[in-house]
Amino acid sequence: MARATGEGTLSGWRWTVLSDGWTQAREALLIRGGSWRKIVRCAATAVLLESDRFGPVLFDCGYSSRFASETAQWPGRLYRHLAPATLTEPDGIAGLLQKRGLDPGKLPRLIVSHWHADHVGGLRDFPNAIVHASREGWQAVSGLRGMAALRHGVLPGLLPEDLPDRLRWVGEGSDLFGDGSMVVLSLPGHAVGQIGIRFQAGDGSPVLLAADACWLSEGYRLNRSPHPITGLLQDLRACQATVERLHRLHLAEPSLRILPCHCPETLALVPV
Ligand SMILES: [Zn+2]
Repeated sequence: MARATGEGTLSGWRWTVLSDGWTQAREALLIRGGSWRKIVRCAATAVLLESDRFGPVLFDCGYSSRFASETAQWPGRLYRHLAPATLTEPDGIAGLLQKRGLDPGKLPRLIVSHWHADHVGGLRDFPNAIVHASREGWQAVSGLRGMAALRHGVLPGLLPEDLPDRLRWVGEGSDLFGDGSMVVLSLPGHAVGQIGIRFQAGDGSPVLLAADACWLSEGYRLNRSPHPITGLLQDLRACQATVERLHRLHLAEPSLRILPCHCPETLALVPV
């Protein structure tokens, strides 16, 4: 599969979708009107962004092998029970960066969409990165332990002890590099304070990394939120508003490529 990137312009970003594991779920849970029979593979994807001017940036960082160790014991084990993961890269997203000639220890910047374990499992592999995240999202999970953490999809052992010193707050409209080439969107609902980014690819086309604003691309295309039962785990009303926002964006700007983290269409962009 060719990389869905463009190269050449100084302000554009080269981008590569990476994945280090997956879980699976019934389609009916992922989107209203979906099939209860159909099982969908939901990969944990991260996106590496590179530019000549600003160096590498990582959007989310997958499971890492720590997901297995952190879910070996109760209460983390419950996470594994509800959403068992198959890990496909022994060295996680960090290992994939190394294969591309990048030193994870020197990665300067990471963006965390939200604090669910399948998005931040690799955080300890990037000890020197500044971590952009939303203040509301962090405040909702900071300091949680045990079942309280698990209810928010958080495995505290995945979070480095010095993380608070490296956090830099961003929110709706934050212009990460001051040139409009990468801008933050607030996408609440699935998690408190969830964020995504919109960036200009090297070929000039706009791309929106939507994190878990919807699980399947059909969600934003058809304006369909997840099954109401998922309201046990997320703010369904805010979810619906966010899906509708993406749907409107999609209609208003058909050239905008919107990538939900776990959609099989996003996984298909991983270079082979
Ligand atoms: Zn999530």
